[in-house]
Amino acid sequence: MEYEQIYQGNLVEVFKISDSFYFRRANLPIRNQCNGAFIVGNTGVAIVDATPGGIEMADEAIKLFHKPVTAIYLTHGHGDHTEGLVDWLDREVTVYCSRRLVEDLDPSYFKGKLSFVGIDGTVKLRLGEDVEVELFTNNDVAHSKWDTFVRIPSLGIVCTGDSVVEYQTAYFHSADIHSWINSLRRLANQKGNYILAGHGQSLFPYSYINEFADFLTVVERCAKDCFKRHWPNPSEVVDERFTKISWAGVKELVDRYFAEGNRDTKFLEEKAGPDDARREVRMNVWAMIRLYIR
Ligand SMILES: [Zn+2]
Repeated sequence: MEYEQIYQGNLVEVFKISDSFYFRRANLPIRNQCNGAFIVGNTGVAIVDATPGGIEMADEAIKLFHKPVTAIYLTHGHGDHTEGLVDWLDREVTVYCSRRLVEDLDPSYFKGKLSFVGIDGTVKLRLGEDVEVELFTNNDVAHSKWDTFVRIPSLGIVCTGDSVVEYQTAYFHSADIHSWINSLRRLANQKGNYILAGHGQSLFPYSYINEFADFLTVVERCAKDCFKRHWPNPSEVVDERFTKISWAGVKELVDRYFAEGNRDTKFLEEKAGPDDARREVRMNVWAMIRLYIR
């Protein structure tokens, strides 16, 4: 998809997708920023995610659209999506996110002019008279327990946060991979044209949701296979205090699994590259160890 770049600065680029929707491509390695969006209505601008340093989006909105930021939609609670919130305290801005995230953020910590709205299910909003936005939560623990999606129905665009990302940037530290895959299959069954991922170089076609779910399915299968093959009796290696198993031990195991190689490991290496493919399987082996202990 080709789109016009309308701004560049501070390792940020802004692209026009339509009169009401702009993709803000950010820099993760150097600035720890996630991708964002400007949704522009006739009275104000809503932005997607409060990334560190993202207060600059207030100035960008004035410069590019001549309107103030009036709302922030948070896709989930990870730091690269929320750490910028503290910089917005003196602005009249409403923060929309999942009810669970409101509970975890504790609004009393954010004393100032910010107000919070917790969402459970689907909420339809209007930005002025002209732009309709739909926010909806996923009540399972998927990428995280806070996952919230932002849909612009007139454009068929959904902002997915990190529920859908480039293959090499999947993170699992607060995920449940199995319900994550199910959640993506449900989303893929709805209609849409494009998705804006929390990380990645461009918008993805809507069909990428299923492709990413396929990728996660293989990650899950490899982690299970690796776990089962090397630890047929988990109680012999896994104990509550992790005295028998270490991060280094898991790393060695996953490296050995990839060195042996099979169709799935080759698929993952092709999609995510050798290092990230291993990291993603490792994170899921750890998740299985935690589940086993529970
Ligand atoms: Zn995340």
